[in-house]
Amino acid sequence: MSFHQLAALLPLCALVSVVSCRQPSVDPLSEEERQLILSQGETMRVLTVEDSLDLAVLRARSVDLSARDIASATYAALARKMLATVTSPEQDGVGIAAPQVGLNRRVIAVQRFDKPGEPFEVYPNVRITAVHGEPELGAEGCLSVPGRRGNVMRWRHVDVAYTSPRSLKDTTESIHGFTAVIFQHECDHLDGVLYTDKLEGSDQFAE
Ligand code: ZN
Repeated sequence: MSFHQLAALLPLCALVSVVSCRQPSVDPLSEEERQLILSQGETMRVLTVEDSLDLAVLRARSVDLSARDIASATYAALARKMLATVTSPEQDGVGIAAPQVGLNRRVIAVQRFDKPGEPFEVYPNVRITAVHGEPELGAEGCLSVPGRRGNVMRWRHVDVAYTSPRSLKDTTESIHGFTAVIFQHECDHLDGVLYTDKLEGSDQFAE
């Protein structure tokens, strides 16, 4: 790598280190949050923008989980129930974020179309750390915005960071293609952002 290449990378590295320093403090799961997870059946109620109380949760910023909580049976139940919810015949989605089931914590489930068998996987404390290439336009829908779809610009190559649920270590991964689009949509939910905020023009159309 030449000096010029290194110099070009420096602003991005500086930005990433600032972002990682600004992670919010981590509070343990409250009794209320634990009850929200444990009191529901295997599929959880999906919050929608049509309900004002639901909308307040969907618009709130989510916070990280402690390593202790990620290792807990409560987290295992959350991951299992988020997967059961997004894959249920009523929802039939390709991704879901914890705020959509009422929990303002940084957890998402994503269908990995880039892996053999296209499995769903769950990522705690996830964030997009870098984007690459040029954004492209694509149609999206959202389980919390029923009956609608619209066109959004998304990056086709992103780097993500999360806490490995197995090792509890910080992990980074490069994601490409439609799976990268899902990561961006779900990570937006963790910042209270909906795809309808990013529609290109007035091109939202009914499903
Ligand atoms: Zn969504």
